[in-house]
Amino acid sequence: MSSVTVRVPAKVNVQLSVGPLREDGYHDLVNVFHAVSIFDEVVAKESEGMTVSVVGEWADQVPVDDGNLAIQAARALAKHAGRTYGAELVIHKAIPVAGGMAGGSADAAGALVACNELWGLGLPLEDLMEIAADLGSDVPFSLLGGTAVGTGRGEQLSRLATGGLFHWVFAVAEGGLSTAKVYAECDRLRAETGADVPWPELDEALLAALRAGDAPALGARLANDLQLAALTLRPDLADTLDEGRRHGALGALVSGSGPSCAFLAGDADHARDLATTLSQFAGCRAAVPAHGPVPGAAVL
Ligand code: ATP
Repeated sequence: MSSVTVRVPAKVNVQLSVGPLREDGYHDLVNVFHAVSIFDEVVAKESEGMTVSVVGEWADQVPVDDGNLAIQAARALAKHAGRTYGAELVIHKAIPVAGGMAGGSADAAGALVACNELWGLGLPLEDLMEIAADLGSDVPFSLLGGTAVGTGRGEQLSRLATGGLFHWVFAVAEGGLSTAKVYAECDRLRAETGADVPWPELDEALLAALRAGDAPALGARLANDLQLAALTLRPDLADTLDEGRRHGALGALVSGSGPSCAFLAGDADHARDLATTLSQFAGCRAAVPAHGPVPGAAVL
């Protein structure tokens, strides 16, 4: 095989509960991931060396050296296989960069699946999941897709059944937010108030809404413990959330560490209308309708 193309989705966290800061600097999380239909494509072609290039709207914001998560993933896979392999990786980027939608993790997962196929390794998903967990806490979910609960640092995953499709709009803001800075701001705000941080628990009402495919119930339970920190760093996002709510969003929240904002719509038509409205809003660079859950990284 001389070229393999893999499609891999963005994610939104429909519940992100952040526990107290641990001694190792991480937080215990309860993280309900949901894969949505905004996709990057990762193409892996036969090559002697290891290179990566990026095309698409966000290309200028992605490193094309060893800092690229896709190249790190390909190297980790080659190391796991105990061989020196090469690949020319080309990323077609549609997932906003540094937008809280796990775009880098998606590309890492895409590179794992593409190179596994290109190099004829035939490793099962469980092996790829282990390599993925070492690359970053969102990478295993990008492999798995669908809807899943992550605990620990987010990397211990179990799949969740959902009762149908949910329709979303993602409002993309200008500029990015660093995930590390948003966690640091969350810790700072918590230290300032001095309140006890509860142990993160899975929201049973949210699970029931997902299982039932009940969009109004899901909209009412969307929750992100990083939202206050993201809004403190980017106060303009509050206006974007309000604008979506004013136009009938069933729920609105900052996606992960932001600055993308996610809006739950009643159906596909509502999502299209809401995307049109939000794309005209001054605070939004773009607004994109999408649905979920969708599968994880898959060979095309
Ligand atoms: P998360 O939701 O997992 O917190 P994010 O969506 O906020 O992540 P990413 O799009 O993954 O953020 O980008 C985070 C940083 O990673 C960017 O600043 C970017 O320079 C770097 N990066 C490295 N490789 C990639 C890649 N293949 N695609 C996107 N960003 C990458």
